[in-house]
Amino acid sequence: MGAFFIGRKSYLKIMFFSLPRHSHALKAKFPAQSLGNKSLWCNMLPWLFELEIVMFHHVEPYAGDPILSLNEAFGKDPRTDKINLSIGIYFDDDAKIPMLPSVRAAELKVVAEAGARPYLPMEGAANFRTAVQHLLFGAEHAALKAGRVVTIQTVGSSGGLKVGADFIKRYFPNTTILVSDPTWDNHRAVFEGSGLTVQTYPYYDAATGGLRFDAMLQALSKAEKHSVVLLHACCHNPTGVDLTDVQWQQLLPVLQERELIPFLDLAYQGYGASIAEDAFAVRLFADSGISFLVANSFSKSMSLYGERCGALTIVCPDAAQAVNVLGQLKANVRRNYSNPPMHGGQLVARVLTDPELRAMWEAEVVAMRDRIQLMRKKLFDVLSAKLPGRDVSYFLTQRGMFSYTGLSPEQCDRLKEEFGVYILRSGRMCVAGLNSRNVEATANAMAAVLA
Ligand code: PLP
Repeated sequence: MGAFFIGRKSYLKIMFFSLPRHSHALKAKFPAQSLGNKSLWCNMLPWLFELEIVMFHHVEPYAGDPILSLNEAFGKDPRTDKINLSIGIYFDDDAKIPMLPSVRAAELKVVAEAGARPYLPMEGAANFRTAVQHLLFGAEHAALKAGRVVTIQTVGSSGGLKVGADFIKRYFPNTTILVSDPTWDNHRAVFEGSGLTVQTYPYYDAATGGLRFDAMLQALSKAEKHSVVLLHACCHNPTGVDLTDVQWQQLLPVLQERELIPFLDLAYQGYGASIAEDAFAVRLFADSGISFLVANSFSKSMSLYGERCGALTIVCPDAAQAVNVLGQLKANVRRNYSNPPMHGGQLVARVLTDPELRAMWEAEVVAMRDRIQLMRKKLFDVLSAKLPGRDVSYFLTQRGMFSYTGLSPEQCDRLKEEFGVYILRSGRMCVAGLNSRNVEATANAMAAVLA
């Protein structure tokens, strides 16, 4: 064991914690000797010490997820007037995560009918998968009829992104995935975690709070063949800046010409314009005949965050390839988590397929979207009155839960420290955390740090 020194603290730690933990190994290693034997202790302590320090000494500390860490810091902040606009969750005007009445009604029905709980198939429940396809494409879409679309139920759309990333890595091992600058932090983490090289394309225009569409097109028109392009189908996270329908139409030929593979992330369907309009890019791409992937989520649109309901869909060139693609998605699921959970997916399927519940849900989504829009308007009104020289109209044009406020990291720190208003240091604010009681205080605090 070589030269060895045990400090007093380490010695005590070993005596208290290591000795009981390793007693079996100890007896095996030093069977004949008694604890009264001095030389035993000389041999045993370094040996125990090595057992303690060697096994995981190379495991580095986790820096934490910036969004979840800020959310935890908010929880610990003792101020009673603090305002949390950090995490991507829709809160109602009473600052509560809503239980949507349509989902509650679906749950009562699902629970009343529930029987045995077998494993779901690797690809998830058939009724959920069909309902998702109809939601994304419309029930009568030719691509569905041609059998060239495959959908699996996943553990949230994060699970869909991950299974999709693994699929890309396996079948396009040397490809690059291009993500918008900026994008949701976890995109990079998921794709790099699957071994893909991640690069960015221009997206957000800090000068206008809008889109660098020409620069985006130019960058994509030079991308390597078969690169994957991650696109937010609506309600871009973190900026709230979306492509218009016309811009999607202009983007499509660039994707086709370079044979790029779009990967659409549809996490906020219904929060932009409407449930159907937010699927514009999905339907446009499906109409065009190109192959692409979509990960979609019900976390936000059905307020089912903890149920982890999402899907991965791949639109293939033909039905024969679709069969093989589905097979490989199933194989991926099998070796990762075997099959998805049952309950949440059944709530989603029930809401989507029961005409009465579907109508209720669509109205609830409208109400959530309108409430966010109202908060945007209030923010805009206060800020434009307090900062007459500053154009803050981007709060009105950005869509969905998030806005890029234009605040610098230092201004975000001031917002938190002086006013108890928590937004991400990137300047991202979750507008869905505003309500009639905190919106004015938030706008005043922002005006103070921007002045
Ligand atoms: N994609 C984007 C852009 C998101 O913002 C989120 C969640 O915040 C997700 C995907 C993942 O959503 P979930 O895994 O809850 O379905």
